[in-house]
Amino acid sequence: MTENFLKPPEAVYTNWSKFLQAVWMHGMSVSNIVPELANSHIDAAADSIREVFTKRNEARTVRPSAFLACARQTYYSVRGEDAGKMPDNIGSTFAVGHLLHELSYAAVESALPPGFVVETELGVGMPRWWPTDETKFNQRGRVDMLISSGESAHNKFLSPDEPHTMLVDFKTMGGFSYRKHGKTVWGEDPDAFGYLAQLAVYAESLNVIDSGAIIAGINRDSLTQPLLPRYITSDALRAELDRVKIAIEMAVEGSDPGEEFLVRHDKDAYFQCGRGGKPGYCAFREVCKANPTRED
Ligand code: SF4
Repeated sequence: MTENFLKPPEAVYTNWSKFLQAVWMHGMSVSNIVPELANSHIDAAADSIREVFTKRNEARTVRPSAFLACARQTYYSVRGEDAGKMPDNIGSTFAVGHLLHELSYAAVESALPPGFVVETELGVGMPRWWPTDETKFNQRGRVDMLISSGESAHNKFLSPDEPHTMLVDFKTMGGFSYRKHGKTVWGEDPDAFGYLAQLAVYAESLNVIDSGAIIAGINRDSLTQPLLPRYITSDALRAELDRVKIAIEMAVEGSDPGEEFLVRHDKDAYFQCGRGGKPGYCAFREVCKANPTRED
């Protein structure tokens, strides 16, 4: 294999977001990506893309990546409420997402300097408090990427205050969401798709919550744009974990939390909940609207 990894900078990267962006940009270059890695990840992407168009059963269980953004989503999912269908033409969006994920893995694996270790598509068990009823709750998950740094490599590239492990979740986004991702105050602004919940649960499972985590945005509308990594603090992950635990407890005991996401974010939740003339993305928006517990 060729060794076109990122060379040490004159001044170390002050945080993991800047370092990861530089690694990704370097590895995404056709002259730097390692052909063998590109080959194997493109094969993996092809398998996932094929599944998008050939697999017919949609999993509807609660999992870190679904039905945790709002306590009422969790409640409705556990109660077996119909979550509706994905839009029929969503396949191409998922297909492009798989390709960009696998290319990102190949780029980071190609460009990460010696002394860093990267694992991709890492299988993860659920935390101890996660319900064991597999008919309603997924019992295993997968994280996109976990990077660890050895002492000497870390000191050449990253500020000594930075953690030695970083959990990374890649998200492919349209241009509007990519720009929004750059401005989102993670931990405060509405997290309509539950990105934080997903990272919080996995970070606890992997025992890396103290390091925080990164949501890395890829602009699928403009593929020459840089990777946009946003760091999530461990405090924000812990606060989200507390919220998720309460949501799951209420769902398991059959207690309706009401329009929890709307209560938390008011009009800013309309985008997700389909109120105020917005179409909404929540799978349970119709049943939720039909069962009000608050005044709009
Ligand atoms: S419509 Fe909004 S408040 Fe209701 S379940 Fe969905 S996210 Fe929660």
